[in-house]
Amino acid sequence: MATKIYMDHAATTPVRKEVLEEILPFFTEYYGNASGIYSIAQESKKAMEKARAQVAAGIHAKPEEIYFTAGGSESDNMALRGVAEAMRQKGNHIITTKIEHHAILHTCEYLEKHGFSITYLDVDADGKVCLKDLEAAIRPETILISIMFANNEIGTVEPIAQIGKLARENGVVFHTDAVQAMGHVPIDVEEMQIDLLSISGHKLGAPKGIGALYIRKGVKVEPLIFGGAQEKKMRAGTENIPGIVGLGKAVELAVQELPETKKRLEAMRDRLIHGILDTIPYSKLNGHPVDRLPGNCNISFEFIEGESMLLLLDALGIAASSGSACTSGSLDPSHVLLAIGLPHEKAHGSLRLTLDMDNTEEEIDFVLEKLPVIIQRLRDMSPLYEAIQKQNS
Ligand SMILES: *Cc1c(COP(=O)(O)O)cnc(C)c1O
Repeated sequence: MATKIYMDHAATTPVRKEVLEEILPFFTEYYGNASGIYSIAQESKKAMEKARAQVAAGIHAKPEEIYFTAGGSESDNMALRGVAEAMRQKGNHIITTKIEHHAILHTCEYLEKHGFSITYLDVDADGKVCLKDLEAAIRPETILISIMFANNEIGTVEPIAQIGKLARENGVVFHTDAVQAMGHVPIDVEEMQIDLLSISGHKLGAPKGIGALYIRKGVKVEPLIFGGAQEKKMRAGTENIPGIVGLGKAVELAVQELPETKKRLEAMRDRLIHGILDTIPYSKLNGHPVDRLPGNCNISFEFIEGESMLLLLDALGIAASSGSACTSGSLDPSHVLLAIGLPHEKAHGSLRLTLDMDNTEEEIDFVLEKLPVIIQRLRDMSPLYEAIQKQNS
């Protein structure tokens, strides 16, 4: 069955109509290479600089501090590898967390193979970084702290302003992966003392394959991609003008609408979370109860295997995701769920529903009606559940 109810916005979002409208002329009418000096090229250049200003305004940065990339993964790679290489003489130590996106974790693994030492901070049961642990991990040779703004699986929002303050006091560069936070949580790189920040277009209503990295003026970063002189020689390659225009528009809209979005999504999210926890036994919320992304609901069900749950949901036209092994692409369940202390079996039985403004109250009702039936059906096939039921009766 075709998806009728899309609740996987943390994986990707549809391109917003207003964004698509803005982008379309740049495929066929204003197709100029922004490096040219003739009129049609200047149209591209103008549109790109407008988008740069829109992105900058969305995070309280200056336009010249915004570098366009091909997405969140590239921005994360550029931040980590770029700073590591540029600051090698100063030190080789980097601090991050165990719950980062793989774009950060796998880049750290690469850096470890090339002489860098990485501290992976633990998080508490709600997914929060402990500031005392962070402070204790800082060494004279620490050059970079990279801690995500908000987690893509469990939705926990980290204490970014306090982390920024700590990093600044210790003279350490601070990067945050704000791919999930952008447009959902207010971001101010000045107030929060952030030095580098990654965003991605397709998580906020712009196309896939476009992103940006904010680099505070004065912070040294080596480029990742060499070639032409685009992006002040920091990121070679003919600019993706339609993507850039789309990112600018999407950021502008998301930031304008943020108060309204936050209010509506939080109300829907909380109704979904409490509706599930109240009607389904042996269920538990993952992530921080209050400091969490407005659209994130992540719940573990005991005696359930995530993939079977997703297939039954899909049969009803509901798109969702899970931290189970089958869906994580490895033998282990989600590293994030393991880091917050879930045993393997509870991590396998997790369900992530991520909402955005295109979801409706009727869709929440539908999920709240169908999910208990699906869970019961799966539990009825579980020998472990049967044993527990016998024990309790
Ligand atoms: C999606 C995501 C990324 C990767 O962004 P892409 O644009 O898909 O490369 C990085 N970090 C987080 C937290 C994400 O959710």
